Amino acid sequence: MKTSQILVRYGELSTKGKNRSSFIGRLRDNVRQTFSDLSSIRIKAERDRMFITSDNEEEIQQVIDRLPAVFGIQSFSPVIEAELDLEAMKQTAFKVVDKLEREGKTFKVSVKRPYKEFPHEKMEIMHEIGSHVLRNFPELTVQMQHPDIELKVEIREEAVYMMAEVIAGAGGLPVGAGGKGLLMLSGGLDSPVAGYHMLKRGVRLELIHFFSPPFTNDRAKEKVFDLAEKLSQFGSSVNLHIIPFTKLQQEVHKQVPDNITMTSTRRMMMRVADKVLEETNCKAIITGESLGQVASQTLESLNAINAVTHTPVLRPLIAVDKLDIIETAQKIGTYDISIRPFEDCCTIFTPANPKTKPKLEKVEYYENFVSFDELIQEAVDQREIVKFPRVKENEMVYEDLL
Ligand code: ATP
Ligand code: MG
Repeated sequence: MKTSQILVRYGELSTKGKNRSSFIGRLRDNVRQTFSDLSSIRIKAERDRMFITSDNEEEIQQVIDRLPAVFGIQSFSPVIEAELDLEAMKQTAFKVVDKLEREGKTFKVSVKRPYKEFPHEKMEIMHEIGSHVLRNFPELTVQMQHPDIELKVEIREEAVYMMAEVIAGAGGLPVGAGGKGLLMLSGGLDSPVAGYHMLKRGVRLELIHFFSPPFTNDRAKEKVFDLAEKLSQFGSSVNLHIIPFTKLQQEVHKQVPDNITMTSTRRMMMRVADKVLEETNCKAIITGESLGQVASQTLESLNAINAVTHTPVLRPLIAVDKLDIIETAQKIGTYDISIRPFEDCCTIFTPANPKTKPKLEKVEYYENFVSFDELIQEAVDQREIVKFPRVKENEMVYEDLL
């Protein structure tokens, strides 16, 4: 039994009218980039579906394993090849159905026969294959309308193609179809999950991390690198901008009273992010903030933080419960990285009694004694940029298309 290709059904993009062809092109590029390490893979994107083909079985298996992470795909089916011979087809049909969950399921065979020279008629083929399957799997019952399992058989001149398995895709929209956003990525649980939600809605990510050596160490940085690597596995590469934040943070602590340093630090982060956003052509800042989690995440506090920018600040987790965030983190594989015990720059400078309702005028008043502009520009200029996924053979040069 040989898997010759994978048929991919598009997700939501089928309904997107005029944008359709650009969405399909985007998905094709993302699939190509995801499998750029597999040299035998060929991709053909048609209006209604995409075909991924290869004559290398191992590489096709890799595609089956990794495709469920690519956004913009509703479902996909491995297509199995059989010889142009009724006996061989029956055996292949058996093997295909044998792999599926069958208890209490309904079943039918459907046949297409574009190769008219094949010496058996459609009805005969349906009957032969159908009764062979039912003899071997008596738990199945036949149902012609909307069966649970439909074994599709297509007879072409070069071979017979069969498929029955439907594997769920990741849903959502192809990454990049929704432009690009700048995710503030800490080492915590929330921000990678926030990034995942935006990727799923088609937003390509640029990542920014504030790093405060020597107060935070390389293990903390490694954690952020591992999170960035994970976020680069949903169909699109990402750049991580690492901002040296120590000087700014120390200056804030010198200038403002302890109970509002948290708010002021956040405002500095926003100002730095805004500059990186401009340079990278992003259209929004994304954070992992969730209402009520900590002192900086009250509506008053969000107001004081937001006041430094006109850029839309998207907070996909604002109304999501912590337990649900944890569940998603586990599902996407960021949980184990996030819970490693290395502090990020905010945990270290957290005052004992941060104000939960900071007054904007008060924060502005204290910040006004110094000009932070130069320190902000310096932090932006001295940033380090790392691209993820980090190492990949045959890596395509991926131009910034947006
Ligand atoms: P997270 O779990 O994402 O760290 P949190 O619940 O710990 O979030 P905070 O520490 O208050 O909340 O951070 C709120 C948001 O600010 C984070 O979700 C993230 O988007 C951003 N942020 C905080 N610290 C950093 C940092 N060192 N670098 C980049 N972004 C940060
Ligand atoms: Mg945090």
